[in-house]
Amino acid sequence: MSSAPPTRFDTLALPPATVANLRQLGYLEMTPIQAASLPPALLGKDLIAQAKTGSGKTAAFALALLANLNARRFAVQALVLCPTRELADQVTTEIRRLARAEDNVKVITLTGGVPLRGQTTSLGHGAHIVVGTPGRVMDHLDRGNLQLDALNTLVLDEADRMLAMGFVDDIATVARQCPPQRQTLLFSATYPEGIAKLAAQFMREPVTVKVEAQH
Ligand code: ADP
Ligand code: MG
Repeated sequence: MSSAPPTRFDTLALPPATVANLRQLGYLEMTPIQAASLPPALLGKDLIAQAKTGSGKTAAFALALLANLNARRFAVQALVLCPTRELADQVTTEIRRLARAEDNVKVITLTGGVPLRGQTTSLGHGAHIVVGTPGRVMDHLDRGNLQLDALNTLVLDEADRMLAMGFVDDIATVARQCPPQRQTLLFSATYPEGIAKLAAQFMREPVTVKVEAQH
């Protein structure tokens, strides 16, 4: 028998300033997927997390990647891949809100449908976190605009949708350019067959957590 995990953010190994910021944002209790995924994620484990849309998955991976981040090291340390430009923009906004407690964490968004030039200039100025769609991230890698040698966290958000949209090869190509000892976090609303295959390609003994839909 297992008891329900604690739901208070201050039960986690998070800096007090981060917990205070969460409170200011109105995040008083962890959502079920946060309570299930943050303890293993903050221990550095690879994670496959499944929960329906609107369950707070963004903050689950954002707090984990921020915990791995050294803001004094000005290099890309986290990459979040998302299926669409709209989702990438939302994730960037949420990471910025959650990072407010730390000084000067720079997040940039790299998606298609926007000229390359502005993104290239932003990359030239440096960033700690990149959020983007697989195709555009590959473009910047191919052009030598983006280096991933300091990366410690790779996130695949909405992995089911990225698979459905045919991004599987792009994801694999990007993952191969990340340092092998990184932490990989995969979030998804559903668990189609392809996810296990994708995970087996480049995750290391992932912990799987799932929050069932409430009836
Ligand atoms: P998902 O990615 O699972 O679809 P989101 O990360 O977009 O869900 O979160 C859905 C909404 O819940 C957002 O408006 C977010 O600000 C809010 N939220 C996330 N975590 C918490 C929390 N612990 N307490 C209150 N609101 C939260
Ligand atoms: Mg989401």
